[in-house]
Amino acid sequence: MTLQNIGVIIVGGGITGISFGRLLQLGGFEDFLILEKEETAGGLCQSQCIKGHVLDLGGGHLLCSRHPEVYDFIFAHIPADEFHTFERVSKIAFDNETVDYPIEYNLWQLPLEKRVDYLTSCMQAARTAEAPENFEDWVRWKLGDAIADKYMIPYNRKVWGVEPNELDTDWLQKIPHHDTRLIVKTCLMGQGDQSVLPSHQTFMYPKRGGFQRIFDAIHDPVQRHARLSNPLINLRRTGDHWVVNESYRTKLVINTIPWGVLHSATHSPPQVSDEVARLRTSGLVVTLHEEAYDHDCHWTYVASPGQPHHREFYINNFAPHSEPNGIFRETNIKRFGGAPDALAVHINEHAYPIPLKGHSEAARQVWTAYANIGVIGVGRWGQHRYYNSDVCIREAMRTAQELLTRGMTLRAGEAISYGSSGLV
Ligand SMILES: Cc1cc2nc3c(=O)[nH]c(=O)nc-3n(C[C@H](O)[C@H](O)[C@H](O)COP(=O)(O)OP(=O)(O)OC[C@H]3O[C@@H](n4cnc5c(N)ncnc54)[C@H](O)[C@@H]3O)c2cc1C
Repeated sequence: MTLQNIGVIIVGGGITGISFGRLLQLGGFEDFLILEKEETAGGLCQSQCIKGHVLDLGGGHLLCSRHPEVYDFIFAHIPADEFHTFERVSKIAFDNETVDYPIEYNLWQLPLEKRVDYLTSCMQAARTAEAPENFEDWVRWKLGDAIADKYMIPYNRKVWGVEPNELDTDWLQKIPHHDTRLIVKTCLMGQGDQSVLPSHQTFMYPKRGGFQRIFDAIHDPVQRHARLSNPLINLRRTGDHWVVNESYRTKLVINTIPWGVLHSATHSPPQVSDEVARLRTSGLVVTLHEEAYDHDCHWTYVASPGQPHHREFYINNFAPHSEPNGIFRETNIKRFGGAPDALAVHINEHAYPIPLKGHSEAARQVWTAYANIGVIGVGRWGQHRYYNSDVCIREAMRTAQELLTRGMTLRAGEAISYGSSGLV
């Protein structure tokens, strides 16, 4: 069978893969293909309209970035005035109460006895010693046993589907910074402080459709490069080339899918199977429901072990064009036992890279072993990091820029750098 020569093969048609392709195109390089397993591209950034409700199939997606260049890139494809901007309103449901997020600066919203218990526990947390290395101990050390036992540990057990003491602590930029004085002050004053929200303090959401509108706008100009229903099933090295699915020959593969999937498709892969096995992912089920609500909250974190889902979104409060009373819920696939009342159920096989202990070092080794032979990992899966879509775009920018500068060549041992620390 004749092989087609292609400059770059991009594996995965999610926001990372299509942004990478678009950036190559903008850089004047058109000799690339994007292989996508599913019938539709978009990955976790897909949305659907069901009975008038806007449903983000990958769970709650909002636009918020620390990277101005990412906004520039997005708004060059879809104008900024096509978005609403919201001040974040999010809640935490735990211990039969509901308070604003983040919990430690909103203890004043609890009944008096609980306020005293939680505040005392916070103050007793011994933060003088060195930070512990697993997540469970870290939470106890940072926020005290009460918040750990009633909120952080049950909530994270639900999200990740593993025991919190198996988790690392190197992804915790996602959690608010911690100021003991402010905890006491907010509790005494009976007033929170919006400025301590760690991310998504304000966020944007499209005025029409769902989050996928961002994806579609970037995808449109590169659509003809995408091959849908075309999973990577076979990756074979011959000389200094890769043969992909016995159809294409290329020198450079950009990987945006979980390494476990790519590794098992590779003939004679690099000797990093143990490290690949440590890069576990978790699956997520998103269900759509119709339930009356009359508040301005955008989403709630649900810690109670009695409820299978860990988060729910009130669609109409950030997508006013959506039908009233739409709610969607996120449930770890391991906890999902069916949702007979749901209007729609969507399964995301790979939703989160699980930050198990040692995951960063394993990811670095896998990334480097493959980069040395011309397979460069980019994005949430390619770098196996808890990246939001804006960071995926930024990493695609960084990598595409580096490769375009080198004339799209990559010699063994000349791997480009492994990525940023910019978790958002
Ligand atoms: C619950 C949840 C909430 C989130 N909230 C936000 C948010 O508020 N804001 C935000 O910016 N980001 C958010 N994110 C993160 C965001 O979804 C991801 O960072 C981003 O979508 C990752 O894009 P990707 O292209 O790297 O991966 P994916 O979207 O997973 O795309 C990978 C693609 O590869 C394809 N693929 C898989 N296997 C193969 C194969 N063998 N061959 C070919 N193709 C294959 C898949 O079908 C998929 O299309 C959230 C994620 C989750 C799960």
